[in-house]
Amino acid sequence: GVAVPDSPDDGPSSVDLRTDVAHSARVYDYLLGGKDNYKADRKAAEDVVKVAPYMRTSVRANRNFMVRVARYLAAERGIRQFLDIGTGLPTSPNLHEVVQKVDPSCRVVYVDNDPIVLVHARALLTSTPEGRSRYIDADVSDPESILAAPEVRETLDLSRPVGLCLIAVLHFLHDEAKAHGIVESLLEPLASGSFLALSTIAIDSAPKQVGTAIKEYNARGIHSKARTKADIEGFFKGLELIEPGVTPVHHWRPDDEARKIDDSQVSMYGGLAIKR
Ligand code: SAH
Repeated sequence: GVAVPDSPDDGPSSVDLRTDVAHSARVYDYLLGGKDNYKADRKAAEDVVKVAPYMRTSVRANRNFMVRVARYLAAERGIRQFLDIGTGLPTSPNLHEVVQKVDPSCRVVYVDNDPIVLVHARALLTSTPEGRSRYIDADVSDPESILAAPEVRETLDLSRPVGLCLIAVLHFLHDEAKAHGIVESLLEPLASGSFLALSTIAIDSAPKQVGTAIKEYNARGIHSKARTKADIEGFFKGLELIEPGVTPVHHWRPDDEARKIDDSQVSMYGGLAIKR
């Protein structure tokens, strides 16, 4: 991994933020109402919203799914270590903040491959003194390097259960066989009692404009893919799905805010399963 720079100004000189082209993390940040984005990202997001007006609600619902699933794992399942791949730009609350509220000793390793997430990663490294949070600049397509990273080895005890989170990242992986291989490689070394939480774009979700939104993203160089609910369930093969299974993200153990969301506004499906 690359060292986390102290501030955007003294980032590694090899990092090219390519602020002239839209990046998925910054488009997502803009849709969430964040500030860490540039003109090209805002333009892409606005173009997507034009054809898919539900998009803001959908990313918000997805973010809240991440918060609920992380809290559930810490509070109801006793999980104290997390590997979060496709972390995104820091957005309050971040995963470590959610789980350290349950138990300050929780440990989190974040992984993303976007240089701008790296630049902002310090905001992810605000662990409690009892716990720990680390950041790795790496690609989910290379699970071996992630698992071999010293940050993972030093932070997570792989002989004990881990919560593996792949939230809103799998739609950037196009090749089904490769995507399944990646998930399997990531799960393989994890102890029994570990969990897989994921969410991704579903073609059979209620918003009518999902196909159009995907086309708009792809036209802007952010290559994404929608999957059927059955495809998404396939990622949990060999694991035991936790109730309510794979659902639109706002239907997954909803809180009051999630219950208010209209189905037509959410294109993401998610689920959680345990490795026995
Ligand atoms: N998990 C967060 C952020 C989702 S946005 C949430 O659900 O709120 C998707 C993130 O995945 C972006 O930050 C993007 O940079 C990252 N990403 C996309 N492709 C990736 C890859 N191949 N490897 C690692 N991260 C990737």
